Amino acid sequence: MKTLRLILGDQLNLSHSWFDKVTDDHTYLMAEMRQETDYVKHHIQKVVGFFRSMRNFSNTLKEEGHHVIYYRIGDEKNPQNLPELIKKAISEHQIEKFEYQLPDEYRLDQQLKEIVKSITISSEVFDTEHFYTKRNDLENHFKGKKQLLMESFYRMMRRKHNILMINDQPEGGKWNFDQSNRKKWDGSPKIPKELSFDTDATELLEEIKKADIKTFGNIDAKNFPWPTSHEECKKLLTFFCSNLLKYFGDYQDALHTQEKYLFHSRLSFGMNSKMLSPQEVIHTVLDHYHAHKDDIHISQVEGFIRQILGWREYMRGVYWKEMPGYAKVNKLENRNPLPDFFWTGKTKMNCLHKAITQSLDDAYAHHIQRLMIIGNYALLTQIDPDKVDAWYLGVYIDAIEWVEITNTRGMSQYADGGIVATKPYVSSANYINKMGNYCKECSYSQTKKSGEKSCPFNSLYWNFLEDKKAFFKDNQRMNMMLSLLKKKNKEELKDLQDRARKIIANPELF
Ligand code: FAD
Ligand code: SF4
Repeated sequence: MKTLRLILGDQLNLSHSWFDKVTDDHTYLMAEMRQETDYVKHHIQKVVGFFRSMRNFSNTLKEEGHHVIYYRIGDEKNPQNLPELIKKAISEHQIEKFEYQLPDEYRLDQQLKEIVKSITISSEVFDTEHFYTKRNDLENHFKGKKQLLMESFYRMMRRKHNILMINDQPEGGKWNFDQSNRKKWDGSPKIPKELSFDTDATELLEEIKKADIKTFGNIDAKNFPWPTSHEECKKLLTFFCSNLLKYFGDYQDALHTQEKYLFHSRLSFGMNSKMLSPQEVIHTVLDHYHAHKDDIHISQVEGFIRQILGWREYMRGVYWKEMPGYAKVNKLENRNPLPDFFWTGKTKMNCLHKAITQSLDDAYAHHIQRLMIIGNYALLTQIDPDKVDAWYLGVYIDAIEWVEITNTRGMSQYADGGIVATKPYVSSANYINKMGNYCKECSYSQTKKSGEKSCPFNSLYWNFLEDKKAFFKDNQRMNMMLSLLKKKNKEELKDLQDRARKIIANPELF
């Protein structure tokens, strides 16, 4: 039967069972589309990264002998949206059956269900064969439970997949080495220069410009740094194992002005586009660990595996459990606008300036920059989570809604009221100074609580607690923060609130 198989831009899984056999019956359909470039404004590196990876993927399929229809963004005949694209291919190629893989985005899931209803031929939907879990495994795991504790999900996953387990006990005697994973990096151990692929993407960039796609951020198109094929993803993974894994856990929360990537893997784009599978990552890391046990402590390996087997699968489960409501939820009722400096990096606050500038230059910031600098500021200044989400969804090369929204709206902005995080991730300058060296080069003083030189995070922090104390009054994990707030004398609190309100009203001046 002549079958059309749709491959979306984040479904670049070459190991999918669809590709086991080469046959004349199957035609694969891929397209760079305006519907995907325009639903939010994306960083230019994100658009280049996805289009280039899609082109490489379709070339590999063609080399293997598969039939592929591929539309480039500038192709005159490109319908630029899914419904027309699919209908056109069905009629032009006398297709008798339509097949697709489960999308990882609610918007596309709905759209494809509609398309299937509107066509007259039969259709079938397949798993992407990428994740460890099915869409609703998390929901089933937590059935009847009030809280969706990541730790409980993670332990279930370790047991189920027999990862870092000895019989039914965690290897190393502990499930979690978080306590030892909180070191500040002070220049040693040395960090090797990141592995960059230095791909020449100038032609593709020209095509994107010609198509007049609205993007933002910077790019060095002659030296595009991200992996755009399975082979390149594998090289990045090997580089990580040989050079970075040994220190990953220790420094996973560290911040540094001179080191953008520290010991982070930069594998998220490869995984989220599905060029690289989480199984391949985890097994390669485990093999490397087993071959170098004298040199690598389990805490480094556990810290890394927790992110992928734990957090990554967990976030996807939360997404499918909570959507579509999740995309609108705003339990803290934050309504402030996003300051303009999110698009320029121009702020005197050094930590924020560095983290935003880096995001605009590299389409990347590591977890603690996203959470404890940019996200922390957004939450403390009570910015509307819709605006925060749109920025995060656009700016990072790895941002796809299922993992962006759960991290941003959930973990970082507490807009879900505590589904993902048990307490809001907020801090004063103290934490930022403890984990990095931004404060040394800042025009503000991290120790000062009041006055013009005082760090804005200090007043914003207490102002946030005061503003939201009623919301958090029954949250036991907030007891200590709220009792410290209670001990503040009225005058001091008023000073802090006055300064915080000035910052919130005029963020560009700070
Ligand atoms: P590493 O530090 O090397 O970690 C290894 C891998 O673990 C990552 O590649 C990623 O696949 C996974 N991982 C780590 N933390 C998380 C997490 N919290 N949730 C899910 N997976 C995780 N990650 C995205 O992939 N896309 C996003 O759009 C995204 N948005 C975020 C927004 C905010 C506000 C925050 C706080 C975090 C966000 N994250 C997102 C999670 C995390 O910051 C990135 O996965 C990570 O920085 C990617 O860099 P890396 O590959 O070098 O990660
Ligand atoms: Fe950031 Fe405040 Fe430190 Fe400046 S003093 S770098 S604003 S935490």
